[in-house]
Amino acid sequence: MTDLNQTALNNLTGVAVEKTEIDTLVVGAGQAGVAMSEHLTKLGVPHLVLERNRIAEAWRTGRWDSLVANGPAWHDRFPGLEFEGLDPDAFASKDQVADYFEAYARLFDAPIRTGVEVKSVVRNADRPGFTIQTSEGVIEANRVVSATGPFQRPVIPAIAPKDERIMQIHSAAYYNPQQLPEGAVLVVGAGSSGVQIADELNRAGRQVYLSVGPHDRPPRAYRNRDFCWWLGVLGEWDAPASKPGKEHVTIAVSGARGGHTVDFRALAQQGITLVGLTKAFNDGVVSFQQDLADNLARGDENYLSLLDAADAYVARNGLDLPEEPEARDFLPLPECVRNPVLELDLAGAGVTSIIWATGYSVDFSWLKVNAFDASGKPLHQRGVSCEPGVYFVGLPWLSRRGSTFIWGVWHDAKHIADHIATQRKYLAYRDAKQRQAAE
Ligand SMILES: Cc1cc2nc3c(=O)[nH]c(=O)nc-3n(C[C@H](O)[C@H](O)[C@H](O)COP(=O)(O)OP(=O)(O)OC[C@H]3O[C@@H](n4cnc5c(N)ncnc54)[C@H](O)[C@@H]3O)c2cc1C
Repeated sequence: MTDLNQTALNNLTGVAVEKTEIDTLVVGAGQAGVAMSEHLTKLGVPHLVLERNRIAEAWRTGRWDSLVANGPAWHDRFPGLEFEGLDPDAFASKDQVADYFEAYARLFDAPIRTGVEVKSVVRNADRPGFTIQTSEGVIEANRVVSATGPFQRPVIPAIAPKDERIMQIHSAAYYNPQQLPEGAVLVVGAGSSGVQIADELNRAGRQVYLSVGPHDRPPRAYRNRDFCWWLGVLGEWDAPASKPGKEHVTIAVSGARGGHTVDFRALAQQGITLVGLTKAFNDGVVSFQQDLADNLARGDENYLSLLDAADAYVARNGLDLPEEPEARDFLPLPECVRNPVLELDLAGAGVTSIIWATGYSVDFSWLKVNAFDASGKPLHQRGVSCEPGVYFVGLPWLSRRGSTFIWGVWHDAKHIADHIATQRKYLAYRDAKQRQAAE
């Protein structure tokens, strides 16, 4: 198979793909696809990135209007570029993040074709490589990297009521309080999305019920260092897998309003009614588990364990970081936690909308190769799948806790690009007879 060179790739822009051959095809141009392209470019691997929307579309239109990055600008970025005009300790807005990845792709003239959807990828039966059907023609590639994101399909649990009087949306479709009908709101899920949306709605004057499940809630900052720094020096971003029992524990952090620790007691004090995990909906009545106090207690434990680990790190390394004993002071447990609401008549409480901040799943229906287990989960080692030539980047825990995050995906992409370059070296090998014949 011939390799398309950079000029030929650039010439693809704006023309139908028709039938094209390329060494490596990257599907998706979010941060994962851009990182892949940078590393492949550095290693001289001819490649093409196909993106069905625009570069970093998820940051552009798949997030609510006021969203800022959860990590500070010095941390949530790639090594090769800083956020222009942004204080390193500030939190980039979602549009600044999208602009950043567009600028990053321009830095090395990334061969990205936008507005082209990959419909299917099939391994060739009689020759190496894959045949790829796209919305603009067919591509033949030796390798395919799926960079289609960790959060593709918004998940709304089956318990969601079929009640036309209530507007129900996933957090992926939430933009601002004005889009919701007048009235109270039930926000289900208290990870970073749920708590930030609940807070915004409450500040906009809405009565809010926030359904809180198991969560971690690291301090925004402690002893003059952001939690991103602490997770870095304590080796937590590099954890290879979630701790047993923590698989379904979400993380609640916020960069909103300059960044602050997510404090459920403070949210309650501000007027939000906290409730336990949402259990069921029956005849207009929603019921909640009696686990609210436990969930808060475990979140507190997680918070305190990070303070303890940070203190031990400071002591062990003799660091000059100011002590912060007041970080261990908690507000009193609010009434809604001491006497939790276990059932709520939605109409009686004036609830007119439900926001499901309940996470996402993936969709690999287009990737018709043997790279999945029986349940459809990708089978891979650090992104190198069990189907030779197929790679994944950007998935949760691909190599470590940081794998879905901006800084983490860059490192995973580097490993995958290295693997591709090494494979190309093997395939380029010619024995003495072949070398002679080629002379
Ligand atoms: C609300 C929210 C806030 C977050 N905040 C942060 C944060 O502050 N810091 C941080 O580090 N991380 C954050 N993340 C996590 C992560 O950084 C983002 O989810 C990020 O968008 C993931 O990048 P990605 O490139 O892996 O996937 P995506 O950004 O989802 O990109 C995948 C791309 O693939 C394209 N695509 C999919 N299928 C096809 C196909 N068949 N053909 C062609 N193109 C296709 C999509 O259009 C998309 O553009 C956040 C996530 C969420 C949901």
